[in-house]
Amino acid sequence: MALGDLSRLPRVDRVSQHPSLASLRRRLGAEALTRLARRVIEEARGVVRAGGAAPSEEEAVAQVAALARASLSSRSRSVINATGVVLHTNLGRAPLGARAVAAVEASAQGYASLELDLSTGRRGPRGAFAEGALASLVGAEAALLVNNCAAAVMLALGALAAGKKVVVSRGELVEIGGGFRVPEVLARSGAELLEVGTTNRTRVADYAQALDGGGVAAILRVHQGNFRQVGFVERPERRALAALARERGVWLVEDLGGGALMDLEAWGLPGEPTVQACVAGGVDVVCFSTDKVLGGPQGGALLGRTEAVERARRDPLARALRMGRLPLVALEETLACYQEGALDEVPVLRMLRTSCEALRARAEGWRAWLSARGIAVEVVSLEGAVGGGALAETPLASVGIAVEGEEAEGLAERLRTGAPAVLGRVQAERLLVDARTVLPEEDERLLAAIEAAVTQGRGGREQGQA
Ligand SMILES: *Cc1c(COP(=O)(O)O)cnc(C)c1O
Repeated sequence: MALGDLSRLPRVDRVSQHPSLASLRRRLGAEALTRLARRVIEEARGVVRAGGAAPSEEEAVAQVAALARASLSSRSRSVINATGVVLHTNLGRAPLGARAVAAVEASAQGYASLELDLSTGRRGPRGAFAEGALASLVGAEAALLVNNCAAAVMLALGALAAGKKVVVSRGELVEIGGGFRVPEVLARSGAELLEVGTTNRTRVADYAQALDGGGVAAILRVHQGNFRQVGFVERPERRALAALARERGVWLVEDLGGGALMDLEAWGLPGEPTVQACVAGGVDVVCFSTDKVLGGPQGGALLGRTEAVERARRDPLARALRMGRLPLVALEETLACYQEGALDEVPVLRMLRTSCEALRARAEGWRAWLSARGIAVEVVSLEGAVGGGALAETPLASVGIAVEGEEAEGLAERLRTGAPAVLGRVQAERLLVDARTVLPEEDERLLAAIEAAVTQGRGGREQGQA
């Protein structure tokens, strides 16, 4: 064919209506498929204009099919988390417990008294139960719920310090991940950053000196997240900073990140300050995520002194950042579990507390089931992680299985792309499946998925050899 012959390009309608695309057309819709076909033909037109060859109709159809499949696979699917990372950022952080799920289901199916006081029939404040429960659990005067911790920090700074300065230690100008950078969030809130101290050492005197300059509305204290400083480092005690803020009449705001409502040290996980400790330490406003160690749905809390919290509530941004109805219902139920002391109903807390002996017994059960089906597995001690902010790198002793004698990368890929999707880890050429983060009700599906992936791999190898 002559180069540059645009008349040889496949026709969009013939490609998009090709019989082999019928099932993809049903799932994505005819219009979306036509758009993809147009895109493929448009690209081909560019290739032909540049002197290349036009694709055949079959080639164009195959390209459209590939794009359509990619689009469908970008849809989120449920995943069995066998990584051992409890708060896996890429897997939606905290899984919800059965009670929270039931509450969401019941609410989602109909209407809910979200902003109606049923006892009076009048309009009521949104989120009043969850906010009240949260405040009372941690001993704070008031609380406000928003979409996530980033929103809480932005709102707190905007409401309390827009147009004024906010003092932050140079050691706390961190990036948490997912684009959360303290200087940028602060700038967007309309406040002006005033850096003090050095990367490794900042003292109360540094803050005091900054306050001497005037024009300061708040001191921001930031949890460094999963960034660690060791050695020649210094950071003021929270109480000392609170005393300074009080004396000088500025707010003390703390971005705590993970919102532990329990002292995790009792479970062998030191280093995560509790929300209670922040409040008791004299912080005016504490901001944290509700889907990290708290174990609830995605959300952010801003709590502390009434005056500060109410200023944030009155800010127009609060309406823009408010928590969605379904997360709010899930959070209400999660907090009810805390109030009742039903901690095992919160999956994150249950996972963090499960003993290695219990995990070993479970992994032994997996081994027995798989070995009865000709799959060699060893029960192994593993190291997982809490994940999600402050404790992200804190190792979490765990137990699981290592699948022996199979090509680990291939097996991991088949599991990841299978149904259900299973995410494990590959280490020293073995596939590791950590029992801590696999929910008890997922056992059967997990084992069936491993069996299927191993069998498929062996089938592929035999075919290759034949
Ligand atoms: C995780 C984290 C955030 C962001 O929380 P999101 O709920 O994801 O917005 C902010 N600050 C700190 C210190 C964190 O650890």
